[in-house]
Amino acid sequence: MKINIAKSAGFCFGVRRAIQIAMKAARSGREVYMLGDIVHNEVVVGKLKDSGVKKIKSLGPGRGRTLLIRAHGAQAGTISGARSAGYNIIDATCPMVKEIHAIAKKLEDEGRMVIIIGDKEHDEVRGIVGQLNKKPIIISSLADVKLKRLHRIKGVGIVVQSTQEESKVMEIVARIKKYIGDVAFKNTICDPTKLKQSQAKTLPAENDVVVVVGSRSSANTKRLYQISRRLNRRTYWVNSPGEIRPSWFKEAGSVGITAGASTPESSIKKVAEGIKNLCA
Ligand code: SF4
Repeated sequence: MKINIAKSAGFCFGVRRAIQIAMKAARSGREVYMLGDIVHNEVVVGKLKDSGVKKIKSLGPGRGRTLLIRAHGAQAGTISGARSAGYNIIDATCPMVKEIHAIAKKLEDEGRMVIIIGDKEHDEVRGIVGQLNKKPIIISSLADVKLKRLHRIKGVGIVVQSTQEESKVMEIVARIKKYIGDVAFKNTICDPTKLKQSQAKTLPAENDVVVVVGSRSSANTKRLYQISRRLNRRTYWVNSPGEIRPSWFKEAGSVGITAGASTPESSIKKVAEGIKNLCA
């Protein structure tokens, strides 16, 4: 059986960069802290923990410690609060997320009501909200686009959480345009996400079986799984080789493997090896 690993599988540019920054800071001997996990992946989190990076739930006294800001950013208030508490800041926010912050601020400066299409509870969305003076509207699904929420608004500026699914976003934007005449839409889904999602569409068409690798807590892995599953029912989601079932590959000529932006290469390799061994 042929195994085809998607070129875009695994770490995106922003996550790889944030991990490198965190490792470098830990190696320098500083006491490095992070608010929450660097990414939604147990292997990566464990590696950072082993190298000495500590996770905290809330900011205590900084006392010269270092606070690392994760790839998906933080609210401006969190960063200024940390500075006042005595932390040194290392900002590993992905440059593409910073661009979303700048675009959202510009739209607000133009006098528009900002709409963020994204997951309400996601750190990246919270980070965008925290850049703005006025509370933006967050839309997570078509069902959130309601006339009574939007009818008094004259002009809106829309930005998108970097990892959203493009087709879903375009449906939401079209619905908003039905209610509001003046819409400035900025498609801020990042290029690595677009590439991943487009390969998540070709992979199920070109392979009998698709295996998506990543943690159950990773939203972007879930999105890849959903896209692939819609196109190929023989799509499976695993986090480790132990979860692979031989029955999935019955009479299959090829298997495509993809992985979320927080999945390390080592996990992808182990799953590919596991499939190879099962089918040998
Ligand atoms: S998903 Fe995109 S925006 Fe988010 S960290 Fe990766 S490259 Fe940056």
